[in-house]
Amino acid sequence: MGKALIIGAGGVASVVVHKCVQNSDVFEEICIASRTVSKCDALKNKLDGGKTIIHTAQVDADNTDELIELINSFGPDVVINVALPYQDLTIMDACLATGVHYIDTANYEPLDTAKFEYKWQWAYKEKFEKAGLTALLGSGFDPGVTGVFTAYAQKHHFDEIHYIDIVDANAGDHGYHFATNFNPEINIREITANGRYFKDGEWVETAPLSEKQVYDLPEIGPKDIYLMYHEELESLSKNIKGVKQIRFWMTFSEKYLTHLKVLENVGMTSIEPIMYEGKEIVPLQFLTAILPDPASLGERTKGKTNIGCVIQGVKDGQPKTYYVYNVSDHEACFKEVGSQAISYTTGVPAMIGAMLVMNGTWQKPGVYNVEEFDPDPFMEALNEFGLPWKESFSPTLLD
Ligand code: NDP
Repeated sequence: MGKALIIGAGGVASVVVHKCVQNSDVFEEICIASRTVSKCDALKNKLDGGKTIIHTAQVDADNTDELIELINSFGPDVVINVALPYQDLTIMDACLATGVHYIDTANYEPLDTAKFEYKWQWAYKEKFEKAGLTALLGSGFDPGVTGVFTAYAQKHHFDEIHYIDIVDANAGDHGYHFATNFNPEINIREITANGRYFKDGEWVETAPLSEKQVYDLPEIGPKDIYLMYHEELESLSKNIKGVKQIRFWMTFSEKYLTHLKVLENVGMTSIEPIMYEGKEIVPLQFLTAILPDPASLGERTKGKTNIGCVIQGVKDGQPKTYYVYNVSDHEACFKEVGSQAISYTTGVPAMIGAMLVMNGTWQKPGVYNVEEFDPDPFMEALNEFGLPWKESFSPTLLD
């Protein structure tokens, strides 16, 4: 069917590439482009020889002109941005300049402030509308599948949704004292930020990881879950009419939190630059450089993830509860694509989003979050491409 340019060659990009190659009728030709071209070449060497033609390229995605040149020379139908959130706007600019659809998995963040807001990308709506192009934001798992799950619940199970609890549990163990499952810098910026949730039209702020519950998850068992802010709360609070409360919860082990606390206390998680031996360095970026590369965790990680949405609302005048979730097994993911489940659960939906935009099913000029499209084709594709979902109509509710 067409051509996709994949920007980034890290943990998530690797899964996107594997999944595009598995779906070669749609992805006839792909180009993997990143800062370090050797990582792109390694992926190509691993997967070359099938139906999908694979190219590689070196690109600095902070540089719009370089991106424009690359897009013009490769001529893709879509750009799948799985680099870092800092590059979202330069890549969107390049897509506008070249007339190509855009997909990402994380909202734009300025380097110097961890904000997690869609305002910068939503501001591109008119430009994408005028250009007749689709920008699909947050097509990973969370954000991504969690928005699709909510849209599916809204379409099939509720007249009105009132409460949403998104629960992201990772019961995987990689055997390291401390490592993050995706880009450490992005991960730690997110976790050390204040918690926030949406309640009765307002945002309620909480101290970082100060709200904890124990929740018993199918196939994983009881886990400590902590309230955090997560970017899909912003779009869901806008797009799910009548919702009263939306919260996001993530599991962390005591060991992980102890390490994080110490690193925080000594200033290693700070994003404020400091001078070190005459050179300016950002402590969090230095920490990122010494932590294990998330892409290397795959072969060591055992256990499962469970990510889903616990939803309450009304149907035909009656209260109703609904839980929709996916369970993924780290070892099974590694066996299939050489990555652990966190990268897998992000890369598969990125490929699906790109497929639906490319084949026209999810094409709509403008800038949209996933829950603004018909969830059914995405839900079908999740089952087909390795992220089968399950549902329960009598879930345990959170406090
Ligand atoms: P990695 O750090 O493993 O990979 C990032 C890749 O981006 C690297 O290949 C890096 O290149 C490349 N890159 C960084 N800066 C540039 C640049 N200026 N120009 C070109 N390439 C660049 O990250 P992950 O794969 O773990 O994460 C990728 C994205 O997925 C992130 O935005 C993350 O927030 C998002 N994510 C979303 C999730 C979701 O569920 N929605 C969950 C997990 C992650 P190099 O290797 O040369 O440094």
